[in-house]
Amino acid sequence: MGLYIILMGVQGSGKGTQAGYITQNYGGIPQISTGDLFRAMKTRTDDLAKQIQQLMAEGKLIDDDTTNKVVEDRLQQPDAANGAIFDGFPRTPYQAQWLENYLAKKGEKIAAVVLMEINLYDAFRRAFGRVTSPSGQGYNIYTDAENLDIKWIEHPEKLFPPRLEATVKATGEKLVRRPDDAHADAIIKRIDIFKKTTQPLIDYFSGKGLVKTVNADQTVEAVTADIKKILDAAK
Ligand code: AMP
Repeated sequence: MGLYIILMGVQGSGKGTQAGYITQNYGGIPQISTGDLFRAMKTRTDDLAKQIQQLMAEGKLIDDDTTNKVVEDRLQQPDAANGAIFDGFPRTPYQAQWLENYLAKKGEKIAAVVLMEINLYDAFRRAFGRVTSPSGQGYNIYTDAENLDIKWIEHPEKLFPPRLEATVKATGEKLVRRPDDAHADAIIKRIDIFKKTTQPLIDYFSGKGLVKTVNADQTVEAVTADIKKILDAAK
């Protein structure tokens, strides 16, 4: 049996970090983030890829069939033969049902749905403040403020919003934001969509006894320890 886990949590709840931990400690099963898969299509110039980029920039969801197809292709890669951690998927009961059917055909099932709970103000600060160095190191302009030089620069054409310029004090490395994080309106839309779409999913999976709640407003290590308990019990 493989280990198939769904990590649920609003943008900024720390799903990516915890998925990294699970990959390392549970047989290398890959994290499958539909957001990352869609972002990776950025370099494609076909109509579908362009349409996806547009919807993402507006903070809207991609349609279910397109999303399921992208996940199916990803699950067929050899590294996903023994399980996967789904991050940002499923986002609708239709996607959830599709995933269950797909796994059932292979004699597999979802082991647990880990729900990472955090208040939405903290989630906004985590997403809006998130910046990354060229080497891939992540920082936050609010929680790591003492290590960073942070400036809000007037837009060259005096448009709103101003631009963020952030560098690491110790190294002078320039930090960049994910385009969809730089746009406060897009983050708020994502949070709204999360609130609206999560409840039906929680209801759907609760009926099957799969939902396990974790307090995500703790240190990374404390959240990891809670997730470990859940996964060891579910295996
Ligand atoms: P994320 O990084 O998970 O927040 O995803 C970024 C964006 O990708 C979302 O705002 C959606 O536009 C799109 N997306 C990611 N996962 C899904 C999904 N399961 N269903 C529909 N759209 C998705």
